[in-house]
Amino acid sequence: MKITDIKLEPCIMRKEDPTWRFALGASPITEGLIVSIETDEEITGYGYASATAHMGASMEGLTGTLERLIPHVKEHDALSMASIRVTMDRALSGNNQAKAAIDNALFDLAAKSMNVPLHRLFGGAVRTEFPVLRILAIKQPDEMAEQAQILFDQGYRYFKIKVHGEVDLDIARVTAIRKRLGDEANLTVDANQAYSPKDAIAALNGMAEYRIDLVEQPVAIDDYKGMKLVTDSVPVTVEADESAGSIQEVAYLVEHRIVDAISLKVAKLGGLWNTLTAAQICKTGNIKYRFGAHVGSRLLNAHAMQLAAALPEVWYASEFGEFARLLDDPFEGIDVEGGIIHLPDAIGAGVQPIAS
Ligand SMILES: [Mg+2]
Repeated sequence: MKITDIKLEPCIMRKEDPTWRFALGASPITEGLIVSIETDEEITGYGYASATAHMGASMEGLTGTLERLIPHVKEHDALSMASIRVTMDRALSGNNQAKAAIDNALFDLAAKSMNVPLHRLFGGAVRTEFPVLRILAIKQPDEMAEQAQILFDQGYRYFKIKVHGEVDLDIARVTAIRKRLGDEANLTVDANQAYSPKDAIAALNGMAEYRIDLVEQPVAIDDYKGMKLVTDSVPVTVEADESAGSIQEVAYLVEHRIVDAISLKVAKLGGLWNTLTAAQICKTGNIKYRFGAHVGSRLLNAHAMQLAAALPEVWYASEFGEFARLLDDPFEGIDVEGGIIHLPDAIGAGVQPIAS
């Protein structure tokens, strides 16, 4: 099955809430690219390239990188995925988000050519549904509690409270949400690097009585000693996100037990193959892992779910539902119902382009 053409299509999705904000920025849109890999057997594989500035991938950079990689991938046998990975790495090091789109599209193609759902290539599904954790954007405490209530009423039971690094105000955010939702809600916090280590410890001790299950990336991306200090000082599971931006970084965090858990994301890690590798590193080192926010098209979430379905150790709740707050998705085939998302029962990644 020879690759005959690779097409790029910008994918600009509006946010339902244009004031959506986290500690590292704000934007009314989510940007990415749809990569379509065509073959001489008339099977097309799709991948989503994620433009995430805080992980080093701009829309302009992604587009240029993909345009540079495409000639190296064309004409290959589509099932020679290992060889294509080596070719891409020799052509250009790094650039995980661009490579992830190609890697994922090749997995979609491979599964379609075998007429099986993609999870079968990872050993088959050990679960077919996932509780979905939803993110609460930074706002005033009462506004965040109101948004949490709306999601709770839709059936969601897992929440991530974005915080800003202001200890007292952040504790007030957690307090307002816990008081509003009661004991049934499972709460986590994501600081996106906003705290100094000691402020993180103070904030988490202040939040402890409101039961926080997890804190994500409390300190700066490269502050490994500070991250370990927080991990060793608080009774909350500490998770790396931005710090875990490659399989090499995951290996370092696990080897030195800098965190208790890792947030796996297919885009930042460079595709499904690397994400599987990262999961195996975590498992081997007895570090928990789950799947973080795959913000973008349903296509990206479908790929991540196909792998997560085959990994028995995925803990807590994963973030496979952020597409629900985005408009203009060019793909369909998965949706969250009552706070749960189901693995699609279809070949390949399990989502399809909406006919235009
Ligand atoms: Mg995060």
